[in-house]
Amino acid sequence: MFQSNEFSSKPGDRYARQLRRGFRRLRFEPEIETEYRRKLIETERVPASVCAAVGACVWLAFALVDLHRISILGLWGQFDAPVWLWFGLRWSVLVLLVAGAAIIRNGRGDYTRLSWTMYAAMGLAIAVTAVIVHSKGLFAADSAQIVVVMAAFLPLGLTFRRALAAALIVAIFSIVALLAFDTQHELEHRVQTVAMLLLAIPVAAMGGYLREHSQRRQFLLTAILDRQAHTDPLTGLANRRSLFAHAERMVHLAAKQGSAVAFAIIDVDHFKRFNDSYGHGAGDLALQQVANVLSADLRAPLDMAARLGGEEFCVLLCGPSPEAAQARFDHLLARIRSLAIPHAASPTGFLTLSIGAAALARHERFATLVTRADAALYRAKHEGRDRVRWA
Ligand code: GH3
Ligand code: MG
Ligand code: MG
Repeated sequence: MFQSNEFSSKPGDRYARQLRRGFRRLRFEPEIETEYRRKLIETERVPASVCAAVGACVWLAFALVDLHRISILGLWGQFDAPVWLWFGLRWSVLVLLVAGAAIIRNGRGDYTRLSWTMYAAMGLAIAVTAVIVHSKGLFAADSAQIVVVMAAFLPLGLTFRRALAAALIVAIFSIVALLAFDTQHELEHRVQTVAMLLLAIPVAAMGGYLREHSQRRQFLLTAILDRQAHTDPLTGLANRRSLFAHAERMVHLAAKQGSAVAFAIIDVDHFKRFNDSYGHGAGDLALQQVANVLSADLRAPLDMAARLGGEEFCVLLCGPSPEAAQARFDHLLARIRSLAIPHAASPTGFLTLSIGAAALARHERFATLVTRADAALYRAKHEGRDRVRWA
């Protein structure tokens, strides 16, 4: 659930600023970066679990081929230490992949460490088993190591940097294993495999970089559009749409918890005359000042100030008794008076507000609360403006 205080700054500013500034190093400013990472983990949960499941299937196929290899070697019942290591790695990584796929799919928290561990375990196990299989004079698919290096850039919930680190670790480990321990194989063949491994990293990394760059751009654009859809561009307050969405949830919560809700419609007095006297630009500035006063007075996380349209605002307060709410609304009127915005065409000589307030009744819907507050506003206007009236 979003909090109304999110609307205290101009819509989309932070995201738009980040978009303008760019992110070639694939890093946002810290707060946005945290949000992005959270979103990445959420959106890549299913793809990551699918990758893990596919990895597990391929791994199972390797495990079955192992059984065939062991038969060829006639090694059943006479395993030596390297064969134990080969089998131990094969089956424990298979268990890790199957369990990991299920945990990622069904879990809720951050699975990136698990993703990283599964990937690294797979890469390191392939390198070790290749050396052992070669040492037994058997054929091993060295190209599988190249595929694993490239797989780091699949949607596993990892950022580009982490994926690159994982790919490099696996590649370096594979190269060391090939050059230092895989002495049964011809040097020429090993050098070829090393060259392919080294080439696989930049090719896959380029794809990974471009994918994350466009994903980050999409994230910023979506956030900007989302803000624009929910905020009023002139004042930065929540707009009518987000007020209603928020209020429906708040009314539901209040009914469940038996907590109080106060609602007020706030209308600028004689604002047409203000525009006529000082111009539309000055009118806009005055509306921004009113908005600032309203948002500065929000206290509880669920409190919300919104612009309903034109020179009409509202505040939704969570928890206060009618007396406390009355004090808050009186305070709003006093704050506007203290700004002393000149309004020569108003009887008071300064810009003032009228407020129609209503407290949520048991089982009342938000729409009827609004209607009652509107009727109270009408009375406030009728009885002289610059005052609060209750429904
Ligand atoms: P009352 O005290 O009865 O509320 O009178 P009023 O003049 O404030 O009410 P009325 O509804 O007659 O006029 C509202 C005015 O608000 C008319 C319109 O020009 C002005 N207004 C609406 N939206 C904006 C805006 O975004 N910027 C500016 N500057 N003026 C606006
Ligand atoms: Mg008005
Ligand atoms: Mg009005």
